[in-house]
Amino acid sequence: MNAIGNPLILLVEDEPAQMELLRYNFEKAGFRTISASDGEEGMLLAREEGPDLVVLDWMLPELSGIEVCRQLKRGGETRRIPVIMLTARGEETDKIRGLDTGADDYVVKPYSVNELLARARALLRRTSPVGMGETLIHGDLTLDPEQHKVLRNGKNVKLGPTEFRLLSVFMERPGRVWSREQLLDLVWGQEMEIDYRTVDVHVGRLRKALRLDGLPDPIRTVRAAGYSLDYDG
Ligand code: CA
Repeated sequence: MNAIGNPLILLVEDEPAQMELLRYNFEKAGFRTISASDGEEGMLLAREEGPDLVVLDWMLPELSGIEVCRQLKRGGETRRIPVIMLTARGEETDKIRGLDTGADDYVVKPYSVNELLARARALLRRTSPVGMGETLIHGDLTLDPEQHKVLRNGKNVKLGPTEFRLLSVFMERPGRVWSREQLLDLVWGQEMEIDYRTVDVHVGRLRKALRLDGLPDPIRTVRAAGYSLDYDG
């Protein structure tokens, strides 16, 4: 997940003209894109780049779209990535609906670009509200990504950029336990070589900033696992 910045869309489609159409329209709509022309490459990019959404063509050479979808949803970090399947009219629509492929939505070709974008936005809003610029509210905490502002109990909380990103991750999925490794990937990015203790330092700063006026600490340390926003406010 890219907690901050424009959502990253992985496009998997083997027909160059279709791919170009997808890329053009998603980028024009303000998304970042990466692309794969077959299922194997699609799986690889999904694992390595952690896109916010996958647009996946059903008809692909070698590994079919349906099989890619099953593998993405089978487990690991790719399971949380929402998938929109593209299918030809009449072709396999019923199967997609009926089979337990794990696809989150599907669009029938020839599709309307606006409809595809609308569905992509709807899925992203559900899975990555901060990436869509939406305000998050949890208990007495409010985080506004567009204004880069955090309120607790109506009072302004001053956070550095790293603490802000950390809180965004926590607030997108309250109650979920994040390992230090996951937080490093999401907040600092995989390319950075940073010690796990750095995560502890910034979580400590975030906690301190959030405990204004003696309010309780909303973050729970989970032994041998990591951290979680675990708090009813
Ligand atoms: Ca195709």
